[in-house]
Amino acid sequence: MVKSSALGYPRIGADREWKKALEAFWSGKLEEAEFHHQLQDIRLNHLRKQQEKGIDLIPVNDFSYYDHVLDTAAMFGIIPKRFSYEGGVVPLSVYYGMARGTKGATASEMTKWFNTNYHYIVPELADASPALTENKPLAAYREAKEKLGIEGKPVIVGPLTFLKLSKGYSQSEFDSWLDRLLPLYVQVLQELAAEGVQWVQIDEPVLVTKLSGPDIQRLKTIYETFAASVPNLNIILQTYFESVDQYSEIVALPVKGIGFDFVHGLSGNLSSIKTLGFPADKVLGAGVIDGRGIWKASLRGKLGLLEELTELVTADRLIVQSSCSLLHVPVTTERETKLSTELKNALAFADEKLNELVLLTKAIAVGSDGVKDELDHSDRVIQALQQSEERNRSDIQQAVAAVNSQKPERNLPFAERYAAQQAKWQLPLFPTTTIGSFPQSAEVRKARQLWRKGEWSQEQYAGFIREQINIWIKLQEEIGLDVLVHGEFERTDMVEFFGEKLAGFAFTQNGWVQSYGSRCVKPPVIFGDVAFIGEMTVEETKYAQSQTEHPVKGMLTGPITIMNWSFVREDIPREQIAYQLAYALRQEVEALEQAGIGMIQVDEPAVREGLPLKEAEQANYLEWAVKSFRIATCTVQETTQIHTHMCYCEFHDMIDSIEAMDADVISIETSRSHGELIHSFELNTYKLGIGLGVYDIHSPRIPSVEEMTSMIERALRVLDPKLFWINPDCGLKTRGLQETVDSLRNMVDATKIARAQH
Ligand code: GLN
Ligand code: ZN
Repeated sequence: MVKSSALGYPRIGADREWKKALEAFWSGKLEEAEFHHQLQDIRLNHLRKQQEKGIDLIPVNDFSYYDHVLDTAAMFGIIPKRFSYEGGVVPLSVYYGMARGTKGATASEMTKWFNTNYHYIVPELADASPALTENKPLAAYREAKEKLGIEGKPVIVGPLTFLKLSKGYSQSEFDSWLDRLLPLYVQVLQELAAEGVQWVQIDEPVLVTKLSGPDIQRLKTIYETFAASVPNLNIILQTYFESVDQYSEIVALPVKGIGFDFVHGLSGNLSSIKTLGFPADKVLGAGVIDGRGIWKASLRGKLGLLEELTELVTADRLIVQSSCSLLHVPVTTERETKLSTELKNALAFADEKLNELVLLTKAIAVGSDGVKDELDHSDRVIQALQQSEERNRSDIQQAVAAVNSQKPERNLPFAERYAAQQAKWQLPLFPTTTIGSFPQSAEVRKARQLWRKGEWSQEQYAGFIREQINIWIKLQEEIGLDVLVHGEFERTDMVEFFGEKLAGFAFTQNGWVQSYGSRCVKPPVIFGDVAFIGEMTVEETKYAQSQTEHPVKGMLTGPITIMNWSFVREDIPREQIAYQLAYALRQEVEALEQAGIGMIQVDEPAVREGLPLKEAEQANYLEWAVKSFRIATCTVQETTQIHTHMCYCEFHDMIDSIEAMDADVISIETSRSHGELIHSFELNTYKLGIGLGVYDIHSPRIPSVEEMTSMIERALRVLDPKLFWINPDCGLKTRGLQETVDSLRNMVDATKIARAQH
């Protein structure tokens, strides 16, 4: 009969006990044996939960001590020499060394897992000698069976995806790497088969990206090799995050089952399967429950979809599953006590999604009448939120539509604004500035806690913030910076801060998801129409400006970043949410200008994160992302200087879009891709103000004057000196006070040298 399946479950635990255990172990507060013990408890708890809910195919080996890609690298002995690994089972010191760095060796790079906010550790093949160090999936399978009687489904990152995500080799070496890895994969699978494992899930999310002819050939090699070596093992080849383009080639692979995403790749996958059919000898993993969003599914709608699929695949060959691992959603809504009933009822986190999977599976077996109450309930809660006041702000909808009907444009083109701004601000050549935040010391965090707990009055807290601003305004003047900032001491998080002050947002108590390693984030929920309620940043910025003759830059988070770092409603297009945010931010920009702030920075570090995986959809996304930024910033006078800031990823292939944002000045992180970025500016002749970060803020090391001088010189070879600004790579909130001051002093010295030479 039809089965239910999960593709992976969140590791962090309902109380983030996983995070706490990791951090306790790292700080030496937890012995290794006890650490293993605690993690096992967490792992078994999660398995038990899935078992109790009645999931048929329960994933094992999705659990990790840090990251599943790192696990795969460790399992295959792909460990850079600098970690002095000597063979055998990889010790935790080496494993965590790769993830976090050691005294003598820098950590491996970390980067985003496809278009999610989860980060994986990038395997480094360069000097690795692959060998199977331990069959982790087998251990996970045995544990589940022995402790809980669960017939688990081991989950493994597939070879094509693993290699594509790795670095340290050239394309011409791809196939020889595949040759070296395949036997190790085969060994893992053979041991699983010998143990009696029935189902294995091999994750190949890379199949939703653009594949070349050789890639398709590699896929055939991989899965034909598996079919020949472990003929009795049921392999489900799992894709997710989008539809696959090479559907025919993929369904022809010799595997037992194939999983598709029928949420994020719905239209593509559904039309492929309908027009091209699905092989009669295979099982279809139908990912109908969203593994990434937080909303309850319309069960009637999902059932309809599944029924459509059962016309193509018989029920005994259908698996009802989540669209991807539930790693990307919080654990449970059960403990949310502060949300409105309307909102809470419409949410489904991991545990609630498991219930949906089980229910849909049952519905197919017994027919929709047998689950009528549940279907009605799901219709009701969705409709209740849909009809809520917060989702039906006609004032906002009309205002945004009106704004949208005009072209968002500054009153003058850049060249003329530039002249007006030069005349007004009289800045020196190569103006110096910072990105916004200054160190959030223990004292700052403490003060915020006291205020949040109500132990400090609003007045007391505001007074404390003013003191911090004073300290840093003086420091910035003393260091000799040209454009100052207030330091963002009143903010914990650049999205949450604004969300709390805008309508349409809600905040969960426990809606944590893993971002990387033990770091978890609790994204705000945009559930209603977003609206400006009152000034958000004017008070602190105005105060800072009153303390100095230098210009103080106002500091806002941009619409796209706020959206991409939140969980958002799905009843309207993302584009509309972005416009609502943009319109709200425009009101803040105007309020700052009114209050006498003449430079305003609107940060957009997360623009790239929203980029669709499918190339065909990217241009459209970038267009409305740029438009949103312009809506937020275009109404100011020509002398008001709009800044923006970008970081966290590579921007070299989207310089046209960055230019189209039409910000008077952009500060951009360069430490991660300096060469490439400079090269692309060379090709693009960027024509607006630009500060390429001259030092990496991720390290406590104080950059020397010479280093920064050479960065500046290199940038000036391609950029117009008249447009060049000097600044660090990113905000300084995670740094210490003294190192920040020393680094900025060196930066100002390097600037003086550059000024003398140009
Ligand atoms: N203005 C923010 C800060 O300085 C920007 C942070 C970011 O780029 N992520 O902290
Ligand atoms: Zn940044």
